[in-house]
Amino acid sequence: MSQSKSSLLLQHHLKQLKLPTVLREYESLAEVCAKERAAYPEYLLRLMERELLDRERKAAERRLRDARFPVPKTVDSFDFSAQPSVNEQAYRELLRGEYMDKHENVLFIGNSGTGKTHMATALGFSACAQGRRVRFHGVTSLVTELMEARERRCLERLMGQLCRQHLLILDELGYVPFSKAGAELLFDVVSRAYERQSLVVTTNLPFENWVEVMGTERLTGALLDRLTHRVHIIEANGESYRLRHAQKRLRSKKSE
Ligand code: ADP
Ligand code: MG
Repeated sequence: MSQSKSSLLLQHHLKQLKLPTVLREYESLAEVCAKERAAYPEYLLRLMERELLDRERKAAERRLRDARFPVPKTVDSFDFSAQPSVNEQAYRELLRGEYMDKHENVLFIGNSGTGKTHMATALGFSACAQGRRVRFHGVTSLVTELMEARERRCLERLMGQLCRQHLLILDELGYVPFSKAGAELLFDVVSRAYERQSLVVTTNLPFENWVEVMGTERLTGALLDRLTHRVHIIEANGESYRLRHAQKRLRSKKSE
């Protein structure tokens, strides 16, 4: 077979086999390996390694996109000394992700601006890096989305998407009370996740006030029961990071 015909065929096969990195790099790597007098299996190994690495990188990018973090944040930009109420050791242990193997939940409780959303996002980010499927939702907009999905008769599809995740992050429970239907839908999400997935919830509400957003004692009790059966609680009760920084900026402006 002529060389051009065989390389045409090879390119066709590589496309069929969905090996884009091999397709892109087989010629240049062949030259390098010929110069280095690398054996055929060595050439094949290097080529396959490149394909694998590219695939892993793309999958990691896709997982991050699918997680829909509103603002991507990692633990590296979190200043623990600015929030001494947070148990840093317990939080760093969570970043390792073993709680997800056990389908345990994580709850961040504390007042506004203390870094709860930042820490929850960073947990999600490290979960993505470990190859887990993660989805971030503001609780209020998730409940709205669930109600709309029910009206359009595609609730099961949305529930199915939520159930496929290893980790669901529900951000900012407590700022807006739910309608009865909304509270029931949220309860449905939590109860489907129970012992199958991990939930990360951030809230400014102490447990005794959850009834104010959930509406009834019965539903609140049932929700808390499932959420807190296996839970890690991280409290963040210092002053607001946002507020402190705004005040600092003001002070430095005044002294200018
Ligand atoms: P919360 O969800 O508790 O209201 P956020 O996580 O939204 O607070 O934090 C508010 C802002 O301050 C965010 O931009 C966050 O990245 C930043 N922030 C809060 N705490 C810290 C901290 N300890 N170190 C670095 N940035 C912080
Ligand atoms: Mg928040």
